Amino acid sequence: MKILKTLLILLLFPAFVNAQQNSWTTTFEASDGFKSATYDEMIAYSKKLAEASPLISYEIMGYSAGGLEIPNLIINKTGLSTPEEVRASGDVVMLVEGGIHPGEAEGLDAILMLMRNIAITKEYENLLDHVTFIFLPAFNVDGLKRIGPYNRINQNGPEEMGWRTNAKNLNLNRDFLKGDTPEMHAWLKMYSNWLPDFFIDCHTTDGADYQYVLTYAMEVFGTMDPMLTRWQEKEFLPYVQGKMNVARQLMFPYVSFRRWHDPQSGLRSGPAPPRLSQGYTAIQNRPGLLIETHMLKPHKQRTEATYDLIVFSAEFLNKNTERLKLIIRMADETTADATFRDRPFPIRWQRDDSDSTMVDFKGVEYDVVQSDLTGGKWFQYHPDKPITFELPWFNKSKPSVMVDLPEAYIIPPQWPEVIYRLALHGIEVEYLEEDAALWVEQYRFKDPSWSRNPYEGRHPMGNIEYEASRDTVVFVKGSAVVDMNQRTARVIASILEPSAPDSYVYWGFFDPIFEQKEYSETYVMEGIAREMLEADPELKAEFEKKKEEDPEFSKNQWGMLNWFYARTPYWDNNLNLYPVGKIIERHDVDALMLE
Ligand SMILES: [Zn+2]
Repeated sequence: MKILKTLLILLLFPAFVNAQQNSWTTTFEASDGFKSATYDEMIAYSKKLAEASPLISYEIMGYSAGGLEIPNLIINKTGLSTPEEVRASGDVVMLVEGGIHPGEAEGLDAILMLMRNIAITKEYENLLDHVTFIFLPAFNVDGLKRIGPYNRINQNGPEEMGWRTNAKNLNLNRDFLKGDTPEMHAWLKMYSNWLPDFFIDCHTTDGADYQYVLTYAMEVFGTMDPMLTRWQEKEFLPYVQGKMNVARQLMFPYVSFRRWHDPQSGLRSGPAPPRLSQGYTAIQNRPGLLIETHMLKPHKQRTEATYDLIVFSAEFLNKNTERLKLIIRMADETTADATFRDRPFPIRWQRDDSDSTMVDFKGVEYDVVQSDLTGGKWFQYHPDKPITFELPWFNKSKPSVMVDLPEAYIIPPQWPEVIYRLALHGIEVEYLEEDAALWVEQYRFKDPSWSRNPYEGRHPMGNIEYEASRDTVVFVKGSAVVDMNQRTARVIASILEPSAPDSYVYWGFFDPIFEQKEYSETYVMEGIAREMLEADPELKAEFEKKKEEDPEFSKNQWGMLNWFYARTPYWDNNLNLYPVGKIIERHDVDALMLE
């Protein structure tokens, strides 16, 4: 009997092991990396994980434009699932996002395997020692649902993949600051609720051919708090770079080439505006790591590299928990402090094209031939012929616009879509309980222009030029007061300073202020203009000069008469006036807060 029993176990056990493995095998693994999880598979697998493990909490973060459920999964070593409990436990929080562009499927496939290997097989259980994870397997679920073989023409697998945008054709990775989509509203609520200490966003890049499987970006160009910048540059990146080297995963900073497909033209890197994920978390004083794998490498290889970098990042956070928490706390305190406003604040940056360093770049040989089809240049890469180029890397940026930050901004109540979004970004807002006359700086725009074509569902502004002036202005009851003594000061300035790259003026939130709503009839104005000229010889000289300098003007009756209209008391002084006031004096803000 004993022999028989052993035999039975020997016969049954391998089958049992296989059955268990199979029940947790992902679509990616079952297909040897040729297939990626569908929306339904992602939901089913995520729910199954949460049912099987008390460490995992499955939450519905929100719903997409197309009405689909967006799950996020929280994994904690004791099953904690609220920000308050997790903070109290001393853990750092790491948010890992896949599928913001679901055609770029590595994040999704890596996340599903990693969640299992942390909580079910326990292979990476130690990553939970000091880190609580929030996994967002696929942020853009509408795009994941629109799966097909023809969604990414440049990309080497998987066989079928999701689509770049949500059901409304909006790109979520342009929506972080403006917050137009329901997906982003849900994300921002989750984000300001948790304030994850570290963020990873998983993508696949387009562009030239080269040897690297994975490129990455972090905000190390000046847009971020200096201590956090140094932590990323000198502590985090050297660690993960070393680990990736050992794992033989070729990794390089995310670059573009000075000439589009031509690596030898030189490399460029620069700051990301806050419409992009890692540019956004940077102004929230939280490091973000952008992963961009190389689209010509097979999906399997790209997913494995993504997986490794997530694991190494989590390892580093486990080893440096207290230090990261300390630096973030100090960055928050520095930003909220009055001294943050002592110097002009760089609100816009440009790459410094005079400053480069030489680097070795692992490229591949290529020929540039004149196309007999189009007459253009045809880059023909030879991935079988690796070559190391020594290239100039332009990776320095300098501020191009500086602004003086106020003690507070004040926004009249007729702009609720702006005020509402401030709250979504975790910004504290107070409201005037009665009308108040305040000494403020205001901007008046001149020569505004807009883009002809839509961009992300809006027609952003082209020319944003203004003059500042100071005056006592009455702000009505219900106006929103945004004190700059808070940790989100960078976010506030990025939204409310018109010259910021993703300001709400740029995105068109304030477009109605540029519309002239009262007009003079030409026959009325012909008479009034004559009376004005007769009464004011200087006006006549000014008019003649304007005609001389501006030939278009001198041919345009309506334009000329509107010019006179603008010089009458009937003219609307609110036209082109930015309704947001900058409160200059601290005691004014304090007085408002006391009321
Ligand atoms: Zn992408």
